[in-house]
Amino acid sequence: MSRFIGSHMKNMDVYAPGEQPQDKSYIKLNTNECPYPPSPKVKERLAELDTDRLRLYPDPAAKRLRQAAAAAFGLPADCVFAGGGSDEILGFTFMAFFDPGDRVYFPDITYGFYPVYAGLFGLSARAVPLKDDFTIDIGDYFGRDGHIVIANPNAPTGIALEKAQIAEILRNNPERLVVVDEAYVDFSEDKTCVGLIKDFDNLLVIQTFSKSRAFAGMRLGLAFGRPELTGGLERAKYAFNPYNIDMISMELGAAALGDTAYLRAIAAKIAGTRGRMAAGLKELGFEALPSEANFLFARSKAIGGEELYKRLKDKGVLVRHFNKPRIDEFVRITVGTDYEAGVLLEKIREILEII
Ligand SMILES: *Cc1c(COP(=O)(O)O)cnc(C)c1O
Repeated sequence: MSRFIGSHMKNMDVYAPGEQPQDKSYIKLNTNECPYPPSPKVKERLAELDTDRLRLYPDPAAKRLRQAAAAAFGLPADCVFAGGGSDEILGFTFMAFFDPGDRVYFPDITYGFYPVYAGLFGLSARAVPLKDDFTIDIGDYFGRDGHIVIANPNAPTGIALEKAQIAEILRNNPERLVVVDEAYVDFSEDKTCVGLIKDFDNLLVIQTFSKSRAFAGMRLGLAFGRPELTGGLERAKYAFNPYNIDMISMELGAAALGDTAYLRAIAAKIAGTRGRMAAGLKELGFEALPSEANFLFARSKAIGGEELYKRLKDKGVLVRHFNKPRIDEFVRITVGTDYEAGVLLEKIREILEII
């Protein structure tokens, strides 16, 4: 490592993204991307875009995009903040609302970026153990002396809390900001807490275009909260990167937001494949946690998680393994198309020599 790297960066744990191999083509079920293309409206909009506009800076207020989101979600535009992916919005959230030295609580098994941001912004990260069945005990989050970040559905378990349970956490922490990361909520049964922002001034909901809207290759995310909260995010944005969303992402994002029917259709299709994939895995002796996301978290007594990951990779199927206590027997498998799920099951069958 270069001697010029600052000591706080040198000693920091940074995020390890899933593999994005550029060498050969895999059946790629490792980073929860969407197996279907974005809405056809996105393609239409892209064809209309004039590259001359790239001379100019994009609208720092992202007005058109925020208005499209407001219309899609039935909210005033000042309750919407737009960012370059939900990771960036999480970063702005930590910057805007959390002071160095503050405590931040999240499950011991959850999205790997929360502890990274806690480290980057000098917070004290408190990992709250999930129960043995990998569910969240909401009582663990009542009356906490710090901020709360919860992914719902959680990752990599896929298990979701009910809206009423999130409301209980909010009610029991009126003086604390509760951040709900809804990266996978479009694949769930009506779990989104966006509607709760009118009841709770301590709720910030974050969503991404990367999964259900098939936009991982652009960087777009949204946050929903009271105008005071979205205003806090705006403040962090103007302190760090005012032009955080490029013109093309803004235009295409607005087009995608205008096509809720397509989003619903894709999410339903993926939920259907998820059910069939879970049944197939069960037949092969796997236990899969009850997922409301576009992935399954599964383990088998017949093979370890790391071994299965490696053997599947050799056979051209990429899944994700986390070398972490409590979950190292598992692999996380993105729900792709029915065809991809079929290949996955066939390869597992070969590996376990099940005829
Ligand atoms: C994928 C994911 C994100 C990041 O999404 P981007 O918008 O691509 O940055 C955030 N939170 C969770 C829980 C995720 O799984």
